[in-house]
Amino acid sequence: MRRLTDMLLQFARFDAGQEEMVRQPVDFTELVEGCVERLKPLAEGQHLNLVLNLQPTEVLGDTLRLAQVVINLVQNAIQYTPAGGSVSVMVESTSAGTHLKVADTGIGISATDLPRVFERFFRADRARSGGEGRTGLGLAISQAIIQAHGGRIAVESTFGVGTCFTVHLPRAETI
Ligand code: ATP
Ligand code: MG
Repeated sequence: MRRLTDMLLQFARFDAGQEEMVRQPVDFTELVEGCVERLKPLAEGQHLNLVLNLQPTEVLGDTLRLAQVVINLVQNAIQYTPAGGSVSVMVESTSAGTHLKVADTGIGISATDLPRVFERFFRADRARSGGEGRTGLGLAISQAIIQAHGGRIAVESTFGVGTCFTVHLPRAETI
């Protein structure tokens, strides 16, 4: 309940434009490494293979909020992938900016549910069972954070096969 209240408060502040977003150079590669390191025990506990492919890159933004997004995405990938599967995290730097990809070989999202995953409180039927403590707010918050950084978040998925979330953050000097 405490977590839900915190998340709702965060939204109320985002909506009111009161949520302060720090803008400072962030070593995004190091940030992703740190987040993955924190979630490694969870992945190992579920017998998942974690694959990393991280190019060096910097973004302009809010370290804590960006870490929140990375943790949400990687945690989802771990939670929604059965044992024996794999979760891969990729960071790529191009002339357009920084790209983060979090792909899994998990339960996937049906075509009907896919357009709704960024909605507040949305949880697909299959994810609802056994999801104690989950609120269905993780992706909605992640999207709000990425948009506040001038970026985009997108998802592709095949039901029963796997899911891939991509985040694009613009080049530091173009924000
Ligand atoms: P929490 O707020 O605790 O993160 P949640 O994980 O249910 O709860 P979101 O992270 O917003 O909420 O995700 C919304 C829904 O999207 C999930 O309930 C699940 O149905 C679906 N989903 C998200 N990521 C994945 C994934 N990697 N594979 C399959 N389904 C996913
Ligand atoms: Mg989640």
